[in-house]
Amino acid sequence: MAIKAEYIWIDGTEPTARLRSKTKVLADDASTAVADLPIWGFDGSSTNQAPGDNSDCVLKPVAVFADPIRGGDDVLVMCEVLLIDMTPHPTNHRAACAAVAEKFASMEPLFGIEQEYTFFQDGRPLGFPVGGFPAPQGFYYCGVGADEVFGREVVEAHMEACLEAGIGISGINAEVMPGQWEFQVGPLGPLEVSDQLWVSRWLLYRIAEEFGISATVEPKPVKGDWNGAGAHTNFSTKAMREGYDPIIAACEALGTKADEHVANYGHGIEDRLTGSHETAPWTEYSYGVSNRGASVRIPWQVAQDKKGYIEDRRPNANMDPYTVTRLIVDTVCSAAL
Ligand code: ADP
Ligand code: MN
Ligand code: MN
Ligand code: MN
Repeated sequence: MAIKAEYIWIDGTEPTARLRSKTKVLADDASTAVADLPIWGFDGSSTNQAPGDNSDCVLKPVAVFADPIRGGDDVLVMCEVLLIDMTPHPTNHRAACAAVAEKFASMEPLFGIEQEYTFFQDGRPLGFPVGGFPAPQGFYYCGVGADEVFGREVVEAHMEACLEAGIGISGINAEVMPGQWEFQVGPLGPLEVSDQLWVSRWLLYRIAEEFGISATVEPKPVKGDWNGAGAHTNFSTKAMREGYDPIIAACEALGTKADEHVANYGHGIEDRLTGSHETAPWTEYSYGVSNRGASVRIPWQVAQDKKGYIEDRRPNANMDPYTVTRLIVDTVCSAAL
């Protein structure tokens, strides 16, 4: 049987890039190892990545996963976008991440990313009544029961699909607003966690499609007294996993570049990091043990064990993990040199 390879890439939509994909049929005996998969092209004028009179962009495979939807030998192929001279396209943020990951590989950085998102159907969040609002937040987070939980069948199918694909998903939970959920990917290195987060987002959209539901990483999907959606980014280096001084040094280092980080943690971050709804205001950097109102949290257990990891709570749900992990590795590891 011929092999279907779904080539997935990140487009040039502004201010927040979107996922695109198309299928390449390969010979039944084709190798699907990443190095053997052919480069491919697409019409960049339809994705905000090229002008119409010079529209070709290149897709270069960077990571391959089993396709849990089609099954068999079919694969999902995460790609990076190149110009036709084979240099990174301006919308390709993976290349810069790869350079920083390589530079600091000896410090063994690891990330676990908590991806929050919201289901929508018929123009409103799943679980919201027509023309109104559900009961206020309070019972939805990690809730159970048809009055509290909306979309679990999609969440279960998505988790199963991630596991079958070989993605390092580490958990799921219902979130504070109805129709809002979270899954976590990691701990993994910067490039691995980023490739896998993008593919797990693609799987989320693709699987929700089967249910007639859409999922969005919009950071503030409902205005007013409803939690936004973030992508808490948990981080450690080998030294942080072994001692407490490097944990504090990492928190301090992040404080020296707070503006640069916040500016690159996802469009619309000012609307989410207001200082309410378990966030710190985007204008003020802070860190603290157990503090869900701080920019960066040192988990209680980490303070107890005197080693472990830190949680950067600032990234938006719509952040680009290639950019966020690159900045964190660069800032923390440069300061540790
Ligand atoms: P929260 O309590 O903030 O909801 P979660 O359990 O949702 O935290 O997510 C924590 C994430 O941190 C998980 O993805 C987990 O794999 C990851 N993690 C655990 N240990 C480390 C570590 N040493 N370095 C980086 N990430 C880690
Ligand atoms: Mn979490
Ligand atoms: Mn959460
Ligand atoms: Mn968290």
